[in-house]
Amino acid sequence: MATAENQARVACPDCGLVQRLPPRRRRYVVECRRCARLLAGTATGRVDAPLAFALAALLLLIPATVEPMLSVASHGAERTCWLWSGIVGLWQEGFAPLAVIVGAFCVAFPYVYLAALIAALAALRLGARAHIGAVFRWIMRLRPWMMLEIFLVGCFVAYSRLRLVVGVHVLAGGWCLMAATGALLLALTQLEERTVWEVLPLRRARPYSRWHSSPHAGERGEQGQAIACTACELLVTGAHAGGACPRCGAALHHRKPYAFRVTAALVAAGFMLYVPANALPVLTLVSFGDEQSNTIITGVLELIHNRLWPLAIIVFLASIVVPLLKLCGLTWMLLATLQGSQRTLLARTRFFRFIDTVGSWSNIDVFVASVLVGLLQFGAIAQARAGGGLVAFAAVVILTMIATRTFDTRLMWDASQRG
Ligand SMILES: [Zn+2]
Ligand SMILES: [Zn+2]
Repeated sequence: MATAENQARVACPDCGLVQRLPPRRRRYVVECRRCARLLAGTATGRVDAPLAFALAALLLLIPATVEPMLSVASHGAERTCWLWSGIVGLWQEGFAPLAVIVGAFCVAFPYVYLAALIAALAALRLGARAHIGAVFRWIMRLRPWMMLEIFLVGCFVAYSRLRLVVGVHVLAGGWCLMAATGALLLALTQLEERTVWEVLPLRRARPYSRWHSSPHAGERGEQGQAIACTACELLVTGAHAGGACPRCGAALHHRKPYAFRVTAALVAAGFMLYVPANALPVLTLVSFGDEQSNTIITGVLELIHNRLWPLAIIVFLASIVVPLLKLCGLTWMLLATLQGSQRTLLARTRFFRFIDTVGSWSNIDVFVASVLVGLLQFGAIAQARAGGGLVAFAAVVILTMIATRTFDTRLMWDASQRG
C-alpha cells in the first residue's frame, strides 16, 4: 500500500509546478499555487457516497432504457419513443456515424462508465486494490464522452419545441432518465480522483526505473528528471519516457507526445468543418408535405420566435459560441506557445480549463435532432429528418474535444520560461 509520502509531492497537471500537498483536513480545498488548478477538493476521501449514487444511477438507467420515454399524439395518430429510438431513426435515415455517436455517448458509455466505477469503488471498499489503477484511469478518460446529462437537456429542448405543435407526454422511461441523471450528477460531485489514487499501491519498479517519493527529497535536484503521470499525477523520478506509471500503468512522458502538432491539425480540421456545420441544414421538419430546413442558427431563431428564451440562450451558447471559443481559444494558445509569450499565461490556462469543461455541451443540437428523428415519424403529416450539416457539426464538436485532450497546457508555461 502506498504511504502518505507518495502523494505528498505532486506536479500540477496544468502548469507542471511541483509542489507539496498539505495534510488533508475536512473541508480543505487545495489549489495550485501558480495556476490555481484544483489539486484536492472537499470530497477527497469519500468512497461510500459516490458508490451509493452511482449504484442508484445504474439501477435507474435500466428502466430508463427499457421503458418508453416520450409519447406524441398528432391528428389521431400516436407514437412512442425510447432512449434508443433516435439512434435507430438516424441509422435508418443513412446517418450511421451519427447513430454510433449518439448510441455511444448516451447509452453505451453511461452503462460502461457506471458499471466500471461501481466495480472500482466496490473493490476499493472491500480492500482489493490490484489492477484498480488501470481501470480507474480508463474510467476518468471515459468521463468527458459520457453525456447522459447533456442528452437530458437535449430531450428537454426537443420536448419544448414539440409541445408547441403537438401533444407530448413524458412517460416512465423519461422520469427514470431524469432520476438516473440526477443520481449520476450527485455521484460525480462526490467523486474525487485523488480519493482513489491516494490509496492505490505502487507496482514494483522496472529495472531501468525507480520512483522516489520521499517528501524530504531535494525538490530542485529531482524536479528536472521527474516525470509527472498525466493520468494519476504521480511524480515518478528516474523513469524513462515511454515507461509505465507504477500506480496507474499509463505511459509516462515529460509532456504529451506531439501535443502541438496534433492539436494544430485538429484545430485546422475543426475550422474547415465549421463552415458546412453552420451553412448546411441540421434538421428538416415536414408538416403536411411542407418542408422546413433548419440550420443551427435558424433553430436558435425559431426558439426565440416561440419565446423559449432560456432554451434559445442555452442552444446559442452551446452550439455557436462554445465551438468557436474552442477553435479560437486553442489557436490563441498554440500561437502564444510558438511565441513563448509570458503575457496572459494564467488567463490562458484558466480559459483552457473552461473550454475543456464546457466542450461536450455543444452536442446538445445533435441530441435534439436524434430525439426529434426518433419521435416525429408520422409520414407526410409530421416528420423530422437529420441533415448533412449535423454530421459536420458533430465532427467539429468531437475534433475540438479531442484537441483539448491532446493539447498540453504545460507547453505554454515551458515556452514562457524559454522566451
Ligand atoms: Zn498549476
Ligand atoms: Zn499514473
